[in-house]
Amino acid sequence: MKILVINAGSSSLKYQLMDPDTGDVFAKGLCERIGIDGRLTHKVPATGKKVEKDLPMPTHSEAIEAVLGILVDPENGVVASVDEIDAVGHRVLHGGSKFTASCLIDDACKQAIRDCIPLGPLHNPANLMGIEACQTVMPGKPQVAVFDTAFHMTMPPKAYRYAIPDEYYDNDSIRRYGFHGTSHRYIAQRVAELMGRSDLRVINCHLGNGSSLCAIKDGQCQDTSMGLGPLAGVPMGTRAGDVDTTVVQYIMNTYNKSIDEVFTLLNKKSGVYALSGGLSSDFRDLEAGAKDGNEKCKLALEKFSYEVKKYVGAYAAALGGLDVLVFTAGVGENGPATRAAVCDGLEFLGVKLDPEKNAQRGKEMIISAPDSKVTVWVIPTNEELVIAQDTKALSQQ
Ligand code: ADP
Repeated sequence: MKILVINAGSSSLKYQLMDPDTGDVFAKGLCERIGIDGRLTHKVPATGKKVEKDLPMPTHSEAIEAVLGILVDPENGVVASVDEIDAVGHRVLHGGSKFTASCLIDDACKQAIRDCIPLGPLHNPANLMGIEACQTVMPGKPQVAVFDTAFHMTMPPKAYRYAIPDEYYDNDSIRRYGFHGTSHRYIAQRVAELMGRSDLRVINCHLGNGSSLCAIKDGQCQDTSMGLGPLAGVPMGTRAGDVDTTVVQYIMNTYNKSIDEVFTLLNKKSGVYALSGGLSSDFRDLEAGAKDGNEKCKLALEKFSYEVKKYVGAYAAALGGLDVLVFTAGVGENGPATRAAVCDGLEFLGVKLDPEKNAQRGKEMIISAPDSKVTVWVIPTNEELVIAQDTKALSQQ
């Protein structure tokens, strides 16, 4: 079976053609600069082949046409015809409280995604454009929406409600939603497979450019660090993470800035990037800077691991203990120094790293010592596989 997984942004579109049963990726790539000019990057993992092409992409429909064109291309393609693609799975950012699981796309599902636009104003319209482009270019092909928020819908009210007046929840659905749900769900499932049981208290640290932690009990989300939007939680590449809202008021009043300007500052110019003095949001650069004695880079890295550690402590308390701690995503999978810094001081919880194991990168492995009470894993995340599996299941119903 072949499932096309689509992650559509406002001016970009990522794709993977994959087998939902084996996880094999036949081809993957990226359309960029949609609506500007258009550029396609296409890779075939089995042969290592990489193609880059400038192609006009005035809308997402032309981008999808370009993707299908290269997938069936006799020289660079991986299928003989579009008929070989069984179904399409879409990553959709915000499903509000409406979606606790993925859904087969029909008019009602599209309307529900539209209804969630106020909650995901940047992403949901782009996700819908991706869906509609596929409907135009591949009419009749089953399509499935997989929501970044769905996994978090098992949180209890004490975790998802904000302590603000009721009317904002009742009328506007303002609450914690959380993101990276497809990644957290993959990890919850994979941990259960790897540990041979699902009755576990797990904290997953998804540490990438955007970062969030998730407290998982018996395979279900109990709490997560992002909120109504993806700005909450630990500091990130360029996002501030949790800040006292008084900071927002102070900057607005003192510098006569609009709320949108302050949000741009908190989303795009903050995080480890800001603490490094604007040097970089990439942890590799920060580690190199810290090695050269750059104090700002050192502080950026210290702040990041300190805040992640604090969330681990909080979630261990929320879960009533901890059985498994997981690191995933770019930094979690490839950053031994960050993992060590997060775990340093968590011995009281029963976390004991094996430094030699932790020195490795980018593969599924236990990095805790044999006598560690908490099993610490590095698990490369695979959101596309979850999307492909849901798409297979729903399109066969
Ligand atoms: P996104 O949130 O964009 O999906 P990723 O999960 O791909 O992000 O993570 C990207 C980040 O991973 C980069 O910004 C970089 O800081 C970090 N990263 C990647 N490789 C390494 C490495 N070898 N060592 C430390 N950090 C790394």
